[in-house]
Amino acid sequence: MTARDAAAASAISALLGMDLQAGSRFALDADRLSAMRAAFAAGTSRAACADCQWQALCDSVAAGGFRGTRLSASRTP
Ligand code: SF4
Repeated sequence: MTARDAAAASAISALLGMDLQAGSRFALDADRLSAMRAAFAAGTSRAACADCQWQALCDSVAAGGFRGTRLSASRTP
């Protein structure tokens, strides 16, 4: 797990009250998605974003209310 992955897992673990590690799975429901988007937009879950080259793009996506983003379902093997 890279430092960025670890920082992201830590932030989302704290936000959702879970202990997430590399490879962890959890059900993404409407409440969790809303909480994750709100925290991302507020910048409170973005420790992993420090020095990332994509910050401007991700800032723009969040500022736009995540419009145009798509989620797809997958099945657990
Ligand atoms: S800025 Fe975007 S791509 Fe970079 S770590 Fe954060 S969420 Fe991921």
